[in-house]
Amino acid sequence: MAARIIDGKALAATVRREVAEGVAALVAGGAPKPELAVVLLGDDPASHVYVSNKVRQTEAVGMHSRRYLLEASTTESQLLNLIEDLNRDSSVSGILVQFPLPSHIDTARVVTAIRPEKDVDGFNPLNVGRTAAGMEGGLVPCTPLGVMRLIKSVHKDIAGLDALVVGASNVVGRPMARLLLRELCTVSIAHIKTTDLERRCREADILVVATGVPALVRGRFIKPGATVIDVGITRIRSEGFEKLVGDVAFDEAVQVAGAITPVPGGVGPMTIACLLANTLSAARTQATRRKAAAEPGTVAFG
Ligand code: NAD
Repeated sequence: MAARIIDGKALAATVRREVAEGVAALVAGGAPKPELAVVLLGDDPASHVYVSNKVRQTEAVGMHSRRYLLEASTTESQLLNLIEDLNRDSSVSGILVQFPLPSHIDTARVVTAIRPEKDVDGFNPLNVGRTAAGMEGGLVPCTPLGVMRLIKSVHKDIAGLDALVVGASNVVGRPMARLLLRELCTVSIAHIKTTDLERRCREADILVVATGVPALVRGRFIKPGATVIDVGITRIRSEGFEKLVGDVAFDEAVQVAGAITPVPGGVGPMTIACLLANTLSAARTQATRRKAAAEPGTVAFG
């Protein structure tokens, strides 16, 4: 029997609706509108499209947005100064610096400079550590967060299931594995040096693939009935047309899996929806802190 296709577009629309309701409730409670600041260096066309989408969707759920389009030649200290200004600006709830950054800028220094409570990408080491320690309350990278929502649309409870994450990047694979572990899955991570990927994949009840290698995972790799989440996005030319493909050979996998995400229309739409959810969550935390600080006799920690 063919797998259930997990509709990332529909779930993303649900997340956006939840965020819009959350924003309205926050503002009705007296807090300022949440605001997302997006910073982009250089003129990479794909990055400009991503940033425009983020700005458009932020405004569509009732939040403010501002964007900083900077020259590729912007120095690291100029960028760090801007981040510090945004850290201090109480009207900014979330800060997102679009990657990749030009090679003269140290990405680690940039992610560390963003204040953890405004780090809506979830890359600041403090947020990474919170997730790694299984703590709630930190901001989690948007793509893994979206993948968890997709998995939970299939499984009520994933505790005890075998999960394999193929790909070990800091943006997707590693935080993904940490989230699955927090939910008490038995988690393995595969990467470029992993041997016998096929056998390892076949043991997984939940298989998340994030490598950027088109059709790396074939139908025969998949355990019958498994949930397969394809994070990969590669633009290829086929029969004279450009199209997006994932890391899983979809036509084969759909015959074996229990549930599977398509590319496009699976993980992609969830990533921006989860960015909006993170911005709302950041704004809520900041509003609570401000309220606590304003109450006489209370001390705000943070
Ligand atoms: P990356 O290049 O930083 O990391 C790729 C990982 O895959 C590495 O850990 C590498 O060891 C592993 N890998 C590469 N070839 C492999 C192989 N043959 N076998 C096993 N492991 C292998 O990439 P990334 O930023 O994690 O992105 C991965 C893919 O996900 C890309 O296609 C990217 O476009 C896509 N992506 C999609 C979204 C989304 O919103 N849908 C978000 C982020 C990334």
